[in-house]
Amino acid sequence: MTIKMSKINVYTCASHHNTVTKDTPNRDVTPFKITCPECGKESFSANYQVSQDLTPTYEWFIPQTVKEYKDACVPIYGDVFTDADYESMLDGKSTMYRKIK
Ligand SMILES: [Zn+2]
Repeated sequence: MTIKMSKINVYTCASHHNTVTKDTPNRDVTPFKITCPECGKESFSANYQVSQDLTPTYEWFIPQTVKEYKDACVPIYGDVFTDADYESMLDGKSTMYRKIK
């Protein structure tokens, strides 16, 4: 039996966009609900009850720098936070999701 380091999850919004996410080591808990990167609506977790063979499009990570946080947030939320906001959110525990390049 192989132990998988990364767990695959899917978030689905009301417009049926599926966001396939991958967990990464050292993450904190991932939320039940995220903002759909496609349309900005609420997108709900399938609680890992999905095929683990799906190809992830987003990965969870813990931002360590303002730039890292900003690069992940801006494509999803838009440019709505100031650098000071990012500084205050950088607690070394909060997770964010970003598009896998
Ligand atoms: Zn959507």
